[in-house]
Amino acid sequence: MIDAGVNLTSSQFHVDADDVVARAREAGITSMMVIGCDEQDSIEALALAKRYQYASCAGIHPHNAKDASADLESNLRQLASENEVVAIGECGLDYNRDFSPRPQQREIFARQLALANELNLPVYLHERDAHEDMLAILKEYQPKGVLHCFTGTRAQAENYLDLGLYLGVTGWVCDERRSQDLNDALNVISLDRVLIETDAPYLLPRTIRPKPKSRRCEPMHLAYVVAHLSAHYGVSESEVSKTTTQNFRTLFNL
Ligand SMILES: [Zn+2]
Repeated sequence: MIDAGVNLTSSQFHVDADDVVARAREAGITSMMVIGCDEQDSIEALALAKRYQYASCAGIHPHNAKDASADLESNLRQLASENEVVAIGECGLDYNRDFSPRPQQREIFARQLALANELNLPVYLHERDAHEDMLAILKEYQPKGVLHCFTGTRAQAENYLDLGLYLGVTGWVCDERRSQDLNDALNVISLDRVLIETDAPYLLPRTIRPKPKSRRCEPMHLAYVVAHLSAHYGVSESEVSKTTTQNFRTLFNL
């Protein structure tokens, strides 16, 4: 299994990242995407990717758009010259939290899409409550990429699939209180367009038994996302792992 999205630079992993990685390997996680969320964070994500021989992405999360430097292109270009950096992101639009002004979110996002196209790299995308604007910008740039932690409706899934994107499914899908849209959307998302991710340390799957003492999600919990998809698609867990691993390799050219 490959965990297509881990916030390994989070302070929640500072003390015991080696142990977290060891547990992930024991659980059959052969690789992961270490997410970068701003310029400094992307440098740290790359360092962790080198340390553990994983992949990373370099970019500016919409929350951090307001703090992007004027020369973000040259900073990201330099990071992208490293073998481990296989995508530009996490980038996109977040109108749910609005931590950065929306016009600035759109500008910083578009600049990263232009850069990804220049470098011929896929993008690692984030979208919350911004579907229409996201679609309009994506249609302009037509990137390859994955809409990470997709939680939207069936119609939204179809729009993203029409653009050729992959959709990242996290432990959100295991949350019976808020996963109705996503589980309905899965009916139009074929498994060969799915990446699986934990988004650790966030989104601890609610189906874990016995319930863990810590609320912190770890990559080793990816198995619960696999189990859910296995039941949904009516295929074995190893088939889910195999197909999503192949999807990851295809998208990120590995
Ligand atoms: Zn995100």
